[in-house]
Amino acid sequence: SKWDVLAAPRDPILAIHQAYQQDPSPLAVNVSVGAYRDAGGNVHEFRAVRDARLSIAASSTYDHAYLPISGLEHLASQSARLIYGDDVFESGRIACLHTVSGSCALRLALSLASRVLGAEEAHVSLPAWPNHVQMVPMEALKLARYRYYDYDRHAVDIDGMLADLGKAKRGDVVLLQACAHNPSGADLKEREWRRVADVVQQRRLVPVFDMAYQGLASGDMEEDVCAVRTFVRKGINVIVAQSFSKNLGLYNSRVGTVSVCVADKVPGRDTATNLLSQLSWLARGMYSSPPAHGALIAAKVMGDDTLRAKWLLEIKEVVGRIGKMRERLRDELERRKVAGHWKHITQTKGMFVLLGLTYSQVERMRVLHHIYLTGNSRINIAGLNENNVAQVAEAIAEVVQN
Ligand code: PMP
Repeated sequence: SKWDVLAAPRDPILAIHQAYQQDPSPLAVNVSVGAYRDAGGNVHEFRAVRDARLSIAASSTYDHAYLPISGLEHLASQSARLIYGDDVFESGRIACLHTVSGSCALRLALSLASRVLGAEEAHVSLPAWPNHVQMVPMEALKLARYRYYDYDRHAVDIDGMLADLGKAKRGDVVLLQACAHNPSGADLKEREWRRVADVVQQRRLVPVFDMAYQGLASGDMEEDVCAVRTFVRKGINVIVAQSFSKNLGLYNSRVGTVSVCVADKVPGRDTATNLLSQLSWLARGMYSSPPAHGALIAAKVMGDDTLRAKWLLEIKEVVGRIGKMRERLRDELERRKVAGHWKHITQTKGMFVLLGLTYSQVERMRVLHHIYLTGNSRINIAGLNENNVAQVAEAIAEVVQN
């Protein structure tokens, strides 16, 4: 019978997280899912988020009415300002829609490219966040891959990337991660982004930026968005999928935006408004309208000077702790003289690093040492703290030697 189906493939990241939750060992360490954890190992609430949440809860005007399809306008405008800067935001060239977090923002970005702009193929980095690979065919796009990370040098393969994108067809989508590349943590330098922008412009590609970690690469919101702004300054039309899951710690509240910035205004046409209506139409068919609670919190944090300052300071603290744990892990490995390349642990950015272990070494980490990392040997540095960093280094040393 057609109902007698096989099980769908398990999500490679969430499956590891589940296995961790079922491990009763007190030694178990979770460095799989990309959520920020504080020094005590907890998924913490940003102080500014807590303040905003409590003030919203105390408000007498709270209601549960539907938001419009395009979501909370105040959230969308704050997000657009954060991405493009106040000047570009005020130029009226941006369509920005509040979405069900970064994932739906990405689906809408791909949907717009495929259904409205007529793209046929989407180019995804090698390696990528697995969900990129899953989403592309779901939006009726053919999947192509471009070289991104060089596993030997543990750095971006910029020449390979430019060569592969140089073969893309006019109108193809190129999916780019704006900062803190998942899973490698290896980002392009500004001058490298300019070279990618040249290729995108020459070949008339449709750039879709996935920005799930703004602020969490360098600690500075503006610096982390330099790729997008480089493209915009060059006069390239861009689509950006923004997530507030990580940089506001609002994972289960599902807050994000999808935006388009067009370079030229066509006289007599309101292109930005038309793009917003196209995105709204696509969102209507996908999930109707987004949830409000987390968006109210995010908009309040970004729109209130005191809360915003508190938030930006806390982002710097978070990035500081991640940087420290990167140094601690590298140091623990080098002190033990573990064979391998560990310099890149402190040279990459954001929460992730690819250790360069084989699949069977990763399995041994899990089975023998209760350390849960994904099969490609990606670890979430934010899962490390003073209580487990030596244990993780010791386990890496053991699997490399045996
Ligand atoms: N893009 C990347 C690269 C991510 O790592 C994530 C979260 N893991 C997302 C997008 C989207 O996350 P969310 O749907 O929670 O906003």
